[in-house]
Amino acid sequence: MIHYPINEIFQTIQGEGVHTGLPAIFVRLQGCPVGCSWCDTRHTWVVDPERREPSCQILDVSSNSDAWSSMCADEIRKSFSCLGYSARHVVITGGEPCLYDLSELSTLLLAEGFTVQVETSGTLEVRVHEEAWVTVSPKIGMKGGLTVLPQALSRANEIKHPVATEHHIEELDTLLQFADLRPDVQIALQPISQKKLATELAINVCIERNWRLSVQVHKYIHID
Ligand code: SF4
Repeated sequence: MIHYPINEIFQTIQGEGVHTGLPAIFVRLQGCPVGCSWCDTRHTWVVDPERREPSCQILDVSSNSDAWSSMCADEIRKSFSCLGYSARHVVITGGEPCLYDLSELSTLLLAEGFTVQVETSGTLEVRVHEEAWVTVSPKIGMKGGLTVLPQALSRANEIKHPVATEHHIEELDTLLQFADLRPDVQIALQPISQKKLATELAINVCIERNWRLSVQVHKYIHID
């Protein structure tokens, strides 16, 4: 049985990508080796044994704390009921959730009638049930020195790319040039930090290529 290091579990609205607007339970895993310069969840990077807490202390909070708790799939599922959560969509995020084999967790949640989404940087092998929705937000040239894996790109149901300048479009084109993508993969551009020029660029490219725009709705309506 796998135990996952959980940073937090909370219920909100999915603010990004294809599932924007859907009520969702977010399960945030601790640990990330990618090192993005703009990361807004730096508190999840290190799994410090000294910051391990009993599970009851990490639930239903969004405290930007580096504390974590070890929970198996069944405990995670039971926590949703304990907290009275009603959403039927579970987003497994991080940190970088693909540090861990998510097969056990995703299989249990799907069997219990949830839909499951994984949000990953694409720099680690994606190990998850085949019915889970995989969102790859490819992190290229980050400080951690990891590369985006062909396996992650070919598993992606959705590729969501942060965009600030033309350079980011070019790097996405280079990445996808030889990728073995699913025929039905959805590609979305996400303006970084709601900047005006980035948003205009993303809109223009999305229209030109028939891609989606992802605008991080949660940041406009000020929810986590
Ligand atoms: S992959 Fe995600 S959690 Fe990791 S550094 Fe980048 S933005 Fe932060």
